[in-house]
Amino acid sequence: MLAPELVLCAIALGFGFALLRAARRRPVWQGAAWGLLLWSLEELAWWVQRSEGFTAAVTPADALFYAGAASWMTTLIRLEARDTPRWGLLIVPALGLCAAALLARPSALLSAVVSSLDLLLLIFALPVLEPALRGQASVGRLLLGLGIFFRVSVHSAYYWLGEPALGLLDFGMWGGSYALMGLGAYLEARELERRARFWPYLLGVASSLGVYLLFLQAASVLRASMLVEAALLAAYPLLVIVLAFLGVLYRDRRRAEERLGRWLALLERLGELEAGVHSTQTLGAPALMKRVLEALQPVFPDLVGIEIRNREAVRVGKAALYVKHFPLYADDDAEGRLYFERTPSPSDAHDLEVLGPFVSEKLRSALSLEQWRHRALTDPLTGLLNRRGLERQIPRLIDLCHKNQRPLSVAMLDLDHFKRINDTYGHPVGDRVLQALAGVLRRHLRTEDLAVRWGGEEFALLLYGAGLEEARRVLERVRAELGALDIEPIPWNVTLSAGLTGGSVPSSEGLLEAWILQADWTLLHAKEAGRDRVMVSEPPRSPDAEPRGTAAS
Ligand code: GH3
Ligand code: MG
Ligand code: MG
Repeated sequence: MLAPELVLCAIALGFGFALLRAARRRPVWQGAAWGLLLWSLEELAWWVQRSEGFTAAVTPADALFYAGAASWMTTLIRLEARDTPRWGLLIVPALGLCAAALLARPSALLSAVVSSLDLLLLIFALPVLEPALRGQASVGRLLLGLGIFFRVSVHSAYYWLGEPALGLLDFGMWGGSYALMGLGAYLEARELERRARFWPYLLGVASSLGVYLLFLQAASVLRASMLVEAALLAAYPLLVIVLAFLGVLYRDRRRAEERLGRWLALLERLGELEAGVHSTQTLGAPALMKRVLEALQPVFPDLVGIEIRNREAVRVGKAALYVKHFPLYADDDAEGRLYFERTPSPSDAHDLEVLGPFVSEKLRSALSLEQWRHRALTDPLTGLLNRRGLERQIPRLIDLCHKNQRPLSVAMLDLDHFKRINDTYGHPVGDRVLQALAGVLRRHLRTEDLAVRWGGEEFALLLYGAGLEEARRVLERVRAELGALDIEPIPWNVTLSAGLTGGSVPSSEGLLEAWILQADWTLLHAKEAGRDRVMVSEPPRSPDAEPRGTAAS
């Protein structure tokens, strides 16, 4: 049969090498990796010593053991996320007692030192382990802690009760300790860890086993009577029950905390909805609904879509089989719908009942605010921004230019002889021309650009990221496309004139306003020069500079 030491050697060697590779990226784990490798040599040495019948006060295996433990300590000391242990400190008196008991056997002082080295390992590990017990750290660290605990328990037990007393359990616990320490360290070093979930309970059960072994040792140290041993044996299931109970309490508390956290986050995000309407520019109903959906999803993971049915339906996310309806406006038949992938659980259904009116109220007020804002800031005929809308946009646009160090060009456009269209064909035809021009502008602008109905048949364009030359090309394209339009019943080509300026990063709102004036001035020159053309002029350098003469077209 394969010698158990060789199996243990292989386990430690495997994890040692894996960890050594992983430690290339996180060097703090090198100590642990070398520790495992030294311990694998230790197992080999034990095997040789056992087969050769070699005994001495300090054997090579002992020396390798010391070296491995010391190497591990270099990692444990340097490990980040150290936290002041609180509950974990309770173990220190128990460990102290054990160590005292070990040292009290003068006949085996050296072995006692060996055992207390393991205890030291545990004490060094405590500060990095306790956050794991409080559910804050990773699975990797929990496994590592469990491994150390296994090791200390089995080592002490081995020392006191001797190998035959434990047999396979002893072997399993050694192997387990190498594997758990190795795997835990490996997960951490590779950053493969996810938040701990059921591991704390595993750790609880396993450590209760470890505590039991420590009990057994205590009993044997005290040369305990049968009675004491029986009492200790009886205490064990009791201990497990108490630990399980504490574990359940702990889990429930954490779940309640998480739930509360999700609810608070939801309320906060719903509260921010209306604020968002004021600050964000291109919002609209879908964007608002998306934010509601994202706010609700952490609380209702099965929620996949949200829809508002008014005259038309607007939906974000997906439609699904399970629908929860909520009224939106009391006076008409507008209705909101929440789509769920699965039937909501009874507790979700209850939460929805509670939350429903609040969500629909928030959504309703955000939507009406958004509608109001839309009406106040846009021109109803063309759908372009009005001047108030432009004023709201200017600070954001200037910030954007500054942040990305991109230029801005400003143009003023005016339809040529527009009065003639009105006078000849009537206002409705004039209106259609304005709408046609708005359509042309929309086609040629990028998302960050702004098109503004400045008043009457005069439009302002703010072209983000465009220098003068690029802006001029855009305007020429607009002019060409407008000229090519066939607008019934106007037999002639509708033309426009434009003045363009800017072309650099605007240093302030005041300067941008001066550019707009300058563009208007340049537009006048374009009109004077015969209309149907784009003229470019040098931008004023300071906000209070008067508009200046123009450059060539
Ligand atoms: P110019 O080439 O010099 O710009 O000549 P113009 O006729 O276009 O100049 P003017 O500024 O005198 O004419 C603007 C006209 O636009 C006067 C006004 O009746 C008309 N107008 C202003 N707003 C609207 C609108 O919303 N719809 C219609 N149909 N016409 C409008
Ligand atoms: Mg005009
Ligand atoms: Mg005009």
